Parts: sequence; C-alpha cells; structure tokens
Amino acid sequence: MPEGPVAGAASGRDPARSGRAVRPGASLWRSSTAGALLAIALLVATTVGAAVWLSILDQQRQAQEQLTRHAHAAALQIRARLIETEQLLLLEGSGYTMSTERFRRDMDELLAANLALLRVELRGRDGALLAGADAQPPRPALPATTRQTLSPEASAAFDTASRLNRLTYSRPYFITVGPTGFDLMEMIVPTGAIDGPMLVAVYAPQRILDHFLPGDLRGDHLYSLVESDGTMAARQAAIGQTGSERFAISPLARTGTTLQVRADALQARPRLIPNVLTGLVAATTVGLGLAMFFLVRDVRQRAQVERALREQVQFRHSVEDSIHHGLIVFDLDDRVAHVNDALVRILGFSREELIGLVRPLPFAPPVAVRDRRAYTERLASLPEAEAAIERSRGFHTTLRAKDGSQVEALVVEAPLYGAQGQRLGTITLAADITEQRRVEELARRQQEVLQSRSRLATLGEMASTLSHELNQPLAAITSYAAACENLVRAQPPRPEQVAQALLGIRTQAERAGQVIRSVQAFLRRRAIDRNEVDLAVLVRGLEPLLNIQAMRTGARILIDVPAELRVFADRIMLEQVLLNLTRNGFDAMADTPSVERVLELRARSRTDDERGQRVEVAVIDHGRGVPPEVVPQLFNAFFTTKADGMGLGLSLCRSVIEQHGGHLRYRPRPEGGSTFAFDLPFHDEALRARPVPTTASGADR
Ligand code: ADP
Repeated sequence: MPEGPVAGAASGRDPARSGRAVRPGASLWRSSTAGALLAIALLVATTVGAAVWLSILDQQRQAQEQLTRHAHAAALQIRARLIETEQLLLLEGSGYTMSTERFRRDMDELLAANLALLRVELRGRDGALLAGADAQPPRPALPATTRQTLSPEASAAFDTASRLNRLTYSRPYFITVGPTGFDLMEMIVPTGAIDGPMLVAVYAPQRILDHFLPGDLRGDHLYSLVESDGTMAARQAAIGQTGSERFAISPLARTGTTLQVRADALQARPRLIPNVLTGLVAATTVGLGLAMFFLVRDVRQRAQVERALREQVQFRHSVEDSIHHGLIVFDLDDRVAHVNDALVRILGFSREELIGLVRPLPFAPPVAVRDRRAYTERLASLPEAEAAIERSRGFHTTLRAKDGSQVEALVVEAPLYGAQGQRLGTITLAADITEQRRVEELARRQQEVLQSRSRLATLGEMASTLSHELNQPLAAITSYAAACENLVRAQPPRPEQVAQALLGIRTQAERAGQVIRSVQAFLRRRAIDRNEVDLAVLVRGLEPLLNIQAMRTGARILIDVPAELRVFADRIMLEQVLLNLTRNGFDAMADTPSVERVLELRARSRTDDERGQRVEVAVIDHGRGVPPEVVPQLFNAFFTTKADGMGLGLSLCRSVIEQHGGHLRYRPRPEGGSTFAFDLPFHDEALRARPVPTTASGADR
C-alpha cells in the first residue's frame, strides 16, 4: 500500500473529525512548551551568570597574583641594588681610615653610580664627621648643619651598627629642606676594625623608588615604599590614575628597617568582555538566545502549518462526505485503500469489511465483472483522446448490496496521482442510478403511451383523406375487375388485355395494402428498436402518407433526400417525427397563397468537427412562422395554438431525436415560414459495434 495521500486519506480522518477536541490539547501543549522554554531561559541565565561571576573571580585572582608577583619582583630588584652598594662599602670601607683622599674619590664614583644616594660620610665611632661626599646636582644637597649631628633615627641605627659591628639601616625620617622636605634613610656600615670609623650612606627613599624600580614593572601598578605601620616614605608619581583597593606588599628585608615595597593595583578600566571565557559565554548566550528565538518561531510556524493542514483535511472530508456518490480508492496493488461514507451507505458493507480487499469484490456480481472487463477492453482498443472521453463516461452495471438487493450504478474509474505526479492507484466513483433508472423507465413507458396516443390523433385527422386514398385504388380495382369480366366474356377473348387489367388490379391492391401497412406500422406501440435506416428509403415508404397530408391542405411536397444517408434509428419513431413535422408545416400554410403552399423535406450529410459525420434533416414550410413570444414554449408538452391541437407533437419529436443522439431545433425562415431541423449521427458500418447511449439526454448533445 502506498504511503502518502492514499494511506493518509484512509487513516487521517479521525484526528481531523475530532478537530474541535484537539484544541484543549493544543493549548496544553502550548503552555507546556512555554513552561519548558521559560525553564531553559532560567537555566541559561543562571549558567551564564555563574560563568561570568566565576570568570570575574578568576580574573581578580589572576590580577592579585600578578600584583603580588610584581611587588616581589620590585622588592627583589631594589634589594639587589641596595646589597650591591652594601657590599661595595663593606669591601672598600676598611681602607678609608688611612686616607680620606681615597674615600672622596671612591665615594664620588659611588655617588655617580648610585643615583638614590645623596651623600656618603665617614664618621668616627663617636659619630663625629670625618669626611663627607655629596652627590652632584640636580640631586639635592643636604644642608651641612643637618649633618653635624645625626638624626635620632640615624643615631639609633649608628649605635646598633657600632655595637653589633654590623651593617644597619635607619628608619626613614623626614627633613625639611627649603620650603618642602623629603624622607631620608641612612645605611650605617662599620668598617673592618671594631673601633674603626663608620660609613654612613644617606639614601632618599624617593630616589630609591625612582631609580631602582625596574622599568618593565612601572606603569602596571602604583608602587610605593612604606613602613610596616603604614607610614609612607616614597611613592610613584601617578598621573591621572588612582589605586584600587587591591595591593600587595613585599619587604625589603634589610636590617634595621621595616621598609617594604607596596604595589597598588591601578583602577581597572571597565572591560566589556573581560576575557576569552566570558566572551565565549556571552557569544553562547547570544547564540542560545537566537536559537531560542528561531525555535519559538519555528514552533509557531509548525503550529500554523499543522492547523492549516488540519483544516484542509477537515475540508476535504466534508467535501467527500457531501458527495452522494460512492468513492473507492485502490492502491497500486489494486487493494481497497479507502471508501467514503456514501459507498458504505449505498452498498451496506462497513468500511472495515472493505479496506484491504482485492478483486473480485463482494459487491461486484459476475455481470459487473463482465461489464468492467468490456469497458476496459473498449478503452484499450480506442486511441488515447477518444479513450479519455470514453473513460469519463464510465459504464453502467449492476452491483449487489450486502442485503442482496441490486444497485444500478454508473461507474467511472480514473488513475490517482500524487502531488509529484507519481501514480498512487485508482479512484473509482460509483453513482447509484437505481432510482434514476426507475424514473427513466417510467418516463419511457409514458412516452410510448403518449406517442401512441399522438399517432391515433394524427390518424384521426387523416381519417377522411385516408378513406379517400383507399377508395381510389378500390374504385380502380372495381373498374379493372369489371373490365376483366367483359374481356373474358368477349369473343374472341383478349387474354393480353385481361392480363394488363389484372396487373392494374394488382398494382392498385398493392398500393392500398401499402397505405394500410403504413397505418398499421404507424399505430403499433412498441419498444424502441434500432436498425440501420436509409433515409431515402424511409421517406419513399412514407410518401403515400405525406401525399395524403398534402392533399388535405391542397399543398405540394418537395422531397430532396439523397441516397446513402444512413442513420441507426427506430424506423417507426423516425417516421412519426417526420410526419409530425410535415403535418405542422402543412397546417402552418393554411393561409398561404396556393402557389406558394410548398413544403420542403430535405436531408444532407455534414461533418462536425467535434461530433464527426452527421445527417441533417430539415422540414421547411412557407407558412405564417412562429411569433417570437411563442418560440420559447414551442417544445413544451401540451403547448398548442390550435383549437384541436394536443400540443404533444414537437415535445415528442424532440425527445425521440435526443434518444437517437441528435437535437431538434427551430429556425425562422427570413423569407417567411419556419424550418424545423434535426441532426443524427451518420451510421457507419465500421462503428456498428459501438453502443449508443441509452439515456434520453445523450452525451452527443
Ligand atoms: P400541436 O400541433 O398539437 O399544436 P405541436 O407540439 O406539434 O402540437 O405544436 C405546438 C405548436 O407549435 C403549434 O400549436 C403551433 O402553434 C406551433 N407550430 C408547430 N409547428 C409550426 C410551424 N411549422 N409553423 C408555425 N407554428 C408551428
């Protein structure tokens, strides 16, 4: 069984039928989707928040680590420079007792090399200044007065150094020089001997910071030199930058001083995307947001499409259900894939009983199987274009309902194609025409009765002329018979003349017999009986009756019917049509001047593009014509303008002609008078096998 529409049509009905019941489910589904989306949104927001927070913490940790590292590095560098000078002074110091000259020379060198030093002194153990060397400008010179006696901080360090005979730094202390002042820190270095002089190197902590701090560390943080109690001895000049709350400290670790390097983190510039991770998280968030947007849109669109589809299926089902004809869909394996409600109703079989069945089907008796075979064989024998027309006409057959009753049906089969043009199976339409058939049969019988009555009426009208027509041959026979008597008795007898008279008798008797036969044939009420009819032969046989009609009205009849115009018709019915039309024509010429009182009966063959070769017959009179207001009613039964008319003639003629696959029309003659013309299919020997439509409203119309 093919997938797709066939299968869908069979199984897709229930959800569609309960379309209304689907709605609450749909809203539940919609609200649960909204809930799920909200949960996803919350989850995403939480994840993103946590990721950003962790990322910020991590960033802060990294920054703190870097701060500490840099503070250490700065302390290490500064310490290395201090130690360099310490070692130099420790090494050189021992020689200075001898020569202050050398002291001066060495110290000038040292001061030139160590930019953080302001002055170096040589002092006796008692603190007395023995010699001093000052750094060159622009380094500030310390006023000599301040160097006479040591500051309390320096003197404390001096004492310690002297007592322990060990290098010691003083605590930083502030001196006022000019309008401002600055911090100093002294390094006391005992020279070799226990009681030898002491070297005092005077540092400016600000210069330590300015000159000993490596260049690669500057700029990242704000460095300062502070004491353990927080007193600041020096700080980096910060331009437009302020320290943050984060800092790291690393001690200089020199004896006698608690000075330490402090690195303050600069106020961080706010960064939109602090690092790759946050960037990724942000990108993921945006991506997720977009994905969710598209997801929601997609879900909406799907819901819309589904709704449209459901409505379409529902629509199709209502269309299908409103069809009164049975529908059966066969799949490619010729199995019943779907049947509609009408079929179930017509045949009485349930859907379940039929779906999946293969031929022969329970409702198709042998006659139906035969009819279908004949139909398919006929289709196969025809050229494609004709076969298409023939296929759409279908075939009549008798089906059997489940209760055994017969169902007259018109069956039409058509191939079923999918949206892509692929063959899916066959769709069969079965129209129940039982009732139609019954009505048709009734109408046919009534028509037969009417036709017979009409014939009687026509005959009644013709009765006087008929007796006249019979009297003539009878009178002739009588006189021929008298002549025979005389001729037989004559001496000598005249056998040749007797024979001639006898021939006259026979001819006249035959003429009378023909008149009587045609009346009999005309009157007989019988079922339609078609045969090949040559129109010329038919009209010739009708001539005596036509002549009677003509004589009655004193008119002439002009017959122009060529030979070989064949139709497939009921001879008697066709005769009746012609007699009715001619009678009307003669009637219409009652007031026409006798010279013009001519009725024409003409026939010819004509080829119609659509309907092939046709035989056209026209009855033309020169009478009074039909008033325009009468024209629409002409063919109505019981419409008459005659005092003694029945108004059945034209209506019967039209139905007879239509029964024979033709059409009867009225045309006014421009010169006056009327033309009643009908056409019939030309009867071709080769097409004799083709059935003629049996319904009154033949498809040839
Ligand atoms: P009836 O002859 O009994 O009246 P018909 O059905 O034959 O019934 O004709 C219906 C009417 O059509 C006539 O009464 C007449 O008025 C009109 N009719 C028919 N044939 C002709 C004709 N050839 N010329 C003029 N009128 C006609």
